Amino acid sequence: MTAPRVLSVASEVFPLVKTGGLADVTGALPGALAAEGIEMRTLLPGYPGVIAALKKPKAVHSYADLSGGPARILAAQAGGLDVLVVEAPHLYDRPGTPYARPDGQDWPDNPIRFAALCRAAADIGTGALAGYRPDIVHAHDWQGGLAPAYLHYRGGPRPATVMTVHNLAFPGKAAPSLLENLGLPPQSFAIDGVEFYGAISLLKAGLQFADRITTVSPTYAAEIRTPAYGMGFEGLLRARAGVLSGILNGIDATIWNPATDNLLAHRYDLPSIAGRAANKTALQTRMGLIEAPDAPLFGVISRLTGQKGLDLLLDCLPTLLGLGGQLALLGAGDAMLEAGFRHAAAQAPGRVACVIGYDETLAHHIQAGIDALLVPSRFEPCGLTQLCALRYGAVPVVARVGGLADTVIDANPAALAAGAATGLQFAPVNADMLDATLHHAVALYRDPPTWRTLQANGMTADVSWTGPARHYAALYRTLAA
Ligand code: ADP
Repeated sequence: MTAPRVLSVASEVFPLVKTGGLADVTGALPGALAAEGIEMRTLLPGYPGVIAALKKPKAVHSYADLSGGPARILAAQAGGLDVLVVEAPHLYDRPGTPYARPDGQDWPDNPIRFAALCRAAADIGTGALAGYRPDIVHAHDWQGGLAPAYLHYRGGPRPATVMTVHNLAFPGKAAPSLLENLGLPPQSFAIDGVEFYGAISLLKAGLQFADRITTVSPTYAAEIRTPAYGMGFEGLLRARAGVLSGILNGIDATIWNPATDNLLAHRYDLPSIAGRAANKTALQTRMGLIEAPDAPLFGVISRLTGQKGLDLLLDCLPTLLGLGGQLALLGAGDAMLEAGFRHAAAQAPGRVACVIGYDETLAHHIQAGIDALLVPSRFEPCGLTQLCALRYGAVPVVARVGGLADTVIDANPAALAAGAATGLQFAPVNADMLDATLHHAVALYRDPPTWRTLQANGMTADVSWTGPARHYAALYRTLAA
């Protein structure tokens, strides 16, 4: 059998457009799958930055009207990827992020904007392009959710469909009055269709109609069948448990490699791990922290939202500082949390530092300079920062949820005795348990041989895309057969 051809449908793809981990995944998968002999092309919207990055674009399909205006599908190379881009200026030629206006408000026509992306996916899936017809359409998150639904309702021969949930917290809701504008049949507004608590959910469309559902860790795949994590989708996910599985994310081991990372003050690998100390000093200098080589330096690189549990960290800052620790935080998001960390930095100059914003370079500096990375998430589908931390010898201190539970081996007595631990986990996710875990982390830090073992185990753990790509390839082959 020839290798299946897969069309990945996503609203963001690194390095072309990124707001979060979704882009890292959709950007890395095609390359990782090529090693498995799988051909993946990526369909994404033609935002201004994407159109500007296209090399030798060629129009391969055109629409007189796609959701309110003329549009074309362009085939091109961009950012090292083989892409198909929906060029629809009336939908995508806008300033701001892919989802929001410069003032931070979501575009009110977002459901229509991403429905157009999914319509193009369904058209390509059913043979709209000469010479290219995918065997599998793989949709990501709510923005891709309508693609499996459209293919289902069209009837006739169609490619197999996969829906991947990167974060169930975004249902992609639309008003019921939009049903027809979204190109959905009247009967679809039902419990076994796209209806979700009185609204339309584009995510539900994908969860309901995809042949297979994946999410980005086995633990999250189990958690989302329960009311505590299911965000209202738990009933549907329980009903579809037979086609639901979890495949972990990896990280791009060429971008995240401390031995070759040109962004770092000092490059290092496991044998030369002593060289990390220079990165710690450089980070402390850059962030205005006291240059104390022996102070346990904790770091955070995160969106600042309720999901990430950083309000718990604010509660625990007195403990962290009381233990002689320092904090370097990079993040942006919720105004209350931003203000909270700014206030904390003002209260403890030289010991708490925060940079509010998005900064890829600083993210690398932090991973290489901190002693431990804090990820106290209330839920975490996979999480990527803890994977980078492992690779950089920063010991992850994480909530035992989702992908954090699956990628960090807790330094409990059994794991320490077996020499297997890579970090620390805590559960339940509350300030008291985080507090206790900060004590434990600092105790381990003050025991250099044990700390070195944690670092070495982390740095040698396989966090690349190799294993995950093998799982996706197996899934595609099963579906194509
Ligand atoms: P999520 O997708 O929920 O935001 P992940 O851990 O899966 O969380 O992925 C976050 C990605 O975005 C990581 O690559 C992380 O390094 C990066 N990131 C998050 N916040 C920032 C920031 N403020 N500056 C730079 N990179 C960030």
